[in-house]
Amino acid sequence: MTDVKSETKEFQAEVKQLLDIVIHSLYTERDIFLRELISNAADALEKFRHQQLMEDEVFDQDAPLAIAISFDDKEHTLTITDSGIGMTRAELEQNLGTIAHSGSKNFFSGLAEAAKKDVSLIGQFGVGFYAAFMVANKVRVQSRSYRVDAEGCEWASEGAGSYTLTSCPGLHRGTKIIIDLNEESYDYASEQMIKRIIKQYSNFVPFPIKVAGETVNTVQALWAKSKQDIKAAEYNEFYKFIANAMDEPVTTLHFAADAPLAIKALLFVPQENLETLGFGRMDPGVSLYCQKILIEQDSAAILPEWLRFVKGVVDSEDLPLNISRQALQDSALVVKLNKIITSRFLKHLTELAEKEPATYEKIWKTFGIFLKEGATSDFMHREALARLLRFESSKSEPGQQIALSDYVARMKEEQKEIYYVNGPSREAIEAGPYLEAFKKNDIEVIYTMEPIDDFVFSHLGEFDSKKLVSADRADIDLPKDAEEEKAEAAEKPEELESTVATSLLKWMKETLGDQVKEVVASKRLVGSPAIIVNPDSIFTSSMERILKATNQEHQISSKTLEINTSHSLIKGLAEMRVKDEEFAKNVVEQIYDNALIQAGLLSEPRSMVERNYKILERALK
Ligand code: ADP
Ligand code: MG
Repeated sequence: MTDVKSETKEFQAEVKQLLDIVIHSLYTERDIFLRELISNAADALEKFRHQQLMEDEVFDQDAPLAIAISFDDKEHTLTITDSGIGMTRAELEQNLGTIAHSGSKNFFSGLAEAAKKDVSLIGQFGVGFYAAFMVANKVRVQSRSYRVDAEGCEWASEGAGSYTLTSCPGLHRGTKIIIDLNEESYDYASEQMIKRIIKQYSNFVPFPIKVAGETVNTVQALWAKSKQDIKAAEYNEFYKFIANAMDEPVTTLHFAADAPLAIKALLFVPQENLETLGFGRMDPGVSLYCQKILIEQDSAAILPEWLRFVKGVVDSEDLPLNISRQALQDSALVVKLNKIITSRFLKHLTELAEKEPATYEKIWKTFGIFLKEGATSDFMHREALARLLRFESSKSEPGQQIALSDYVARMKEEQKEIYYVNGPSREAIEAGPYLEAFKKNDIEVIYTMEPIDDFVFSHLGEFDSKKLVSADRADIDLPKDAEEEKAEAAEKPEELESTVATSLLKWMKETLGDQVKEVVASKRLVGSPAIIVNPDSIFTSSMERILKATNQEHQISSKTLEINTSHSLIKGLAEMRVKDEEFAKNVVEQIYDNALIQAGLLSEPRSMVERNYKILERALK
C-alpha cells in the first residue's frame, strides 16, 4: 500500500444511480438538502448522548451538544457543524460511499417513481446526505469520532463518480460539512434563507441550531408537554419533522400513563402507504426515548411489526437509560410497553371508527392490509383487530364495507355462525353457486376478496363467540324457518326418485374415482346442478388457490361434489346413463370440471376443452 493519508475511491454503483436521481429529478425541491443535513446532525447528537451514558471516556467530553450553521456569501459556502458522534475514516467510507438499501432493486424503481410523483417522499428513504449535491459543486465532510483513539478524516467529492479520503488532524468531536454552492444555489448563503428553512422543516430538532450565534429552533420535546398546551398545528409540524414528511397526519394520538408503566407517547398515522407505492418493506417508524433522551431511533421493539406504518415517539421513565439496543429486544419491560401502547393505539382506532367513520375508512383503505397482517399473526391483539376489520357483504352496497359487529347485529335469531365466501370480485362471487342457499334463506355472507382474508378468518376462528365459517364448507346447515320451508317445498321442481338418485350418485362417484371424496345430494343448491364443497376447514378452496399459486407442486385435497337432484340436467343424466353410459360419463366429468371452475380450482383445462367439443358435436347432431 502507498500513502493511506489520501486516497480516492469509487462510489458504489447504487450511489451513482442515486446521485443521478437526486441531482436531476429532485432539483426543484432544493430546500430539503438543509433539512437532511440538519437531521443527520441531530441523529449524530442523539447517538452521542446515548453512547456517552455507556462509555467510560469520550473525546471532547465537554463540548456542548449543538448544531451551528455558518455561511460566506463572498466565497459561496455553507457550513453545518455538529458535536455529535462523528465518523472514523472507515465509517465515512461506509456511510457516505455506499447505501444500506443497496440490496433492493425495488428501492430504486420506487424512488424514481416517487420522485416523479411526489418529491417530498425522498426524505423518507435514507438518501438524505446526497441531497447536498443538489446545491453543491463540491462537498467536504470533516469528521472526528467520539472514540478516544480515533483520528480525524476529511471526505470530499464533487458528486460525480468518486470521492477522496484524507487525514485531517486537529478537529473537535463531531462533523463539519462544508458545501461549495453551485451558481444556481448562491442564495442559500444568506441568514434569512437559512432561518426560513429551519423554521419550516427543523423546528423540533431537540438540540439548539445556531445561526450567527443565535438559536433559531424551538428546542422542546413536544410529547412531554401536556395536551392542553399543544396546538393542532404544532402536532402537525412535529409529525412532519419526525416523519420527514410534507403532508399532514391522518390521525394523531397523544397519551400519557403513570401505571403500570410511566409512558408518554405521541403517535401518527401518515397519508401514504409506501409499501403499496412499490418501495418494499417499510422500516418501523416509532422512536424510543427515556426522559427525552433517545434510546433507539425507529425501534423495532416498541411496536409489533404489523404497526410499522405508524410514526411517532414513545418515552418511558421506567427504562434504564443505559440499556443497549440488543438488550432492548429481549427486555421484559419493553415487551410490556409494546403491549400497552399497541392496545392503546388500537383503542384509538376503534374510537375513531365510531366518531369519525370517514377518517377511519381512509386509514382502513390505506393501511387495512397491515391490520389484516396483525390479525393473521398476532394472538394477543386479535380481538381488538377483529373489531377493526372491514369487508363487503351480500347486504352491503357495492364498494361499501361493514364491520363484523354490523354483521352480528343483523344475524337471525336461529343463526349461530358467521359466513364468508372468497372470490376475486363481488360480481364473480354473486354469479357463483355458493351464495344460492344463503340468498334463499336471507342470510348475510361476507365477501372476502383478498387472498389474505381467509388466513385472517381461519386465524381468528371466531368473532363475538360466533364461529367464522367459509360458505364452501361441506357441513353447512343453514337455519330456516318452518313457514319458508313449506312454501319452498311447494315451489320446488320434483326431485329424482330416491332409489334412482342413490344409484346415480353411487355411479357418479365410481366414474370420478379418487378425484372426489364423495358425491352427495345437495340441500343448498337452487339453480346450479353441482357444487364443490370442502370437507376440511383448513383446506378451503381459497386456501388451496393460494397454496397452488405459491407452490406449483401443491396437490389439491379431494373435495366433495354436491349434486342438485332436482335440476333438469341431473335428471337428464339419469336417463342418458341408461341409454349411452359412455357419453353419460363424459357429462359427469364435465359437470365436475365446471364445478371446479366455479370453485377456482381447475388447473389443467386441456382435457376439459377436448371433452367439451365432443359434447357440443353431439348436441348439434
Ligand atoms: P440516513 O440518515 O437515513 O441514515 P443519510 O444519507 O442521511 O441516511 O446518511 C447516511 C449515514 O451517514 C447516516 O446513517 C450516518 O451514519 C452518517 N452520517 C451522515 N451525517 C452524519 C453526521 N453529521 N454525523 C455522523 N454521521 C453522519
Ligand atoms: Mg439522514
